[in-house]
Amino acid sequence: MAFKTDIQIAREAQKKPIQMIGEKLGIPEADLLPYGHDKAKISQSFINSVQDRATGKLILVTAINPTPAGEGKTTTTVGLGDGLNRIGKKAAVCIREASLGPNFGMKGGAAGGGYAQIVPMEEMNLHFTGDFHAITSAHNLLAAMIDNHIYWGNDLEIDIRRVVWRRVLDMNDRALRQITASLGGVANGFPRETGFDITVASEVMAILCLARDLKDLQQRLGDMIVAYRRDKSPVFARDIKADGAMTVLLKDAMQPNLVQTLENNPAFVHGGPFANIAHGCNSVIATTTALKLADYVVTEAGFGADLGAEKFMNIKCRKAGLSPACVVVVATVRAMKMNGGVAKADLGAENVEAVKKGCPNLGRHIENVKSFGVPVVVAVNHFVTDTEAEVQAVKDYVAAQGSEAILSRHWELGSEGSADLATRVAEIADADMANFAPIYPDEMKLFDKIDTIAKRIYRADEVLADSKIRNQLKEWEAQGYGHLPVCMAKTQYSFTTDPERRGAPTGFSVPVREVRLSAGAGFVVAICGEIMTMPGLPRVPSAESIKLNVDGDVEGLF
Ligand code: ADP
Ligand code: MG
Repeated sequence: MAFKTDIQIAREAQKKPIQMIGEKLGIPEADLLPYGHDKAKISQSFINSVQDRATGKLILVTAINPTPAGEGKTTTTVGLGDGLNRIGKKAAVCIREASLGPNFGMKGGAAGGGYAQIVPMEEMNLHFTGDFHAITSAHNLLAAMIDNHIYWGNDLEIDIRRVVWRRVLDMNDRALRQITASLGGVANGFPRETGFDITVASEVMAILCLARDLKDLQQRLGDMIVAYRRDKSPVFARDIKADGAMTVLLKDAMQPNLVQTLENNPAFVHGGPFANIAHGCNSVIATTTALKLADYVVTEAGFGADLGAEKFMNIKCRKAGLSPACVVVVATVRAMKMNGGVAKADLGAENVEAVKKGCPNLGRHIENVKSFGVPVVVAVNHFVTDTEAEVQAVKDYVAAQGSEAILSRHWELGSEGSADLATRVAEIADADMANFAPIYPDEMKLFDKIDTIAKRIYRADEVLADSKIRNQLKEWEAQGYGHLPVCMAKTQYSFTTDPERRGAPTGFSVPVREVRLSAGAGFVVAICGEIMTMPGLPRVPSAESIKLNVDGDVEGLF
């Protein structure tokens, strides 16, 4: 049987005017700022006006450790949102915006898949409402102002070897990772080494996604550390006097974007921080607004639950005062098989033993999520190649863990396929079973926070960090940053720092290679392993097959 591609399905969508989608959430037309017919931003005054309303139930969609077999968190988020609407609930979904980098590289789109997608898919994956361009501009304005400050005499006494603020671009471009700037003589400033990161790795992106409002945004932008003096004292964006103009550039980007699913249900698509050096979820302002307008809000966290859900809980929920009512852990039969040692090429054949062998990875994620005091349900994202016996093996394993796995066929069937999952998730959320708490308190020492995550979530024996790193953490504590949460940057493919170690490994340590302070975003980043903040394109980038067809439609996005 031949299946349509994501873009074919998306193009056949019977979209409704965005005003009708807004109406479902009670947003007056005047408070929707339309970008074309099918996208709109929501006015700040409307957002302010709903703050006293009751808050809906927050449902987090997370997953097992990703494998090349694909898990489908976004697809399941959208499918569950549609499923909830189908069973008569007022539900909205909240996901991240797409970066151009992966689109033209190899990952493909970020709007879901099959019959569980957000539309307009092409625009969401391309320029959308311009938020990422605004973030790029704000980030680079600050970069330009720093070099300009140095050029005109450097009153702040910035040590030009210690400018930590780089530049950004929303593109995979390895040629720009390390550059020398200000070459060409006195008129061009003082030559120094710097480089580019991809826009989603910008601290401005993380800030936009954690700020409560424009005032908080400006405060956080001002708090960012951009350079150090020779005495090692920090220079802040506020010292460069860039925070005001940056806020102006970000004014519209701060407002959440409303679009729709294939089934015409509301979807907030806003923000898109990296899930390694940042926290990897959509914006606080979109999530909190959605919670005031819908009874159920389904949102996604990047990577597997060891990174995505952990940061969602310990960073986003802690900072925004959010509290999830239910967590859905997405698993697939294929990924279980890969965790059980099957090669990607052999995934087509039924292999119940391998499924069983791979299940402990899922089991550990279930246990971890429960340790935050939140009820869990497993969604088995159905692939048409899965056999009944394989699905049953996952269900049996999960039942033996004292949880429940539900097969969901949203990719193939839309909400008809996810109604069972939606029914159960709604029941759990309505039962108010959650007793949510982050797994470490603000007051805990920074190193101990890293240690807690490594031991309780990854199940490592120990954290390895040399005295330089430990001293750096102590120094930040002395400077008043000790209360911040930590943001772990490690491979998404394993509980360990070795991407090859699938399953549920034990007997390993977690080496911390470097620590960074994101003083504006409000977290300390612990880098464990190689982390790429400017990806490169693969040998055959998908950009080679993206084009306009004779009708002017985009082809090659997926
Ligand atoms: P994630 O959010 O976990 O990165 P996505 O939901 O974006 O994953 O899905 C990744 C890719 O896998 C998409 O192209 C999607 O179409 C595909 N996919 C997801 N679920 C299924 C499924 N059940 N059957 C077939 N393909 C799927
Ligand atoms: Mg996703």
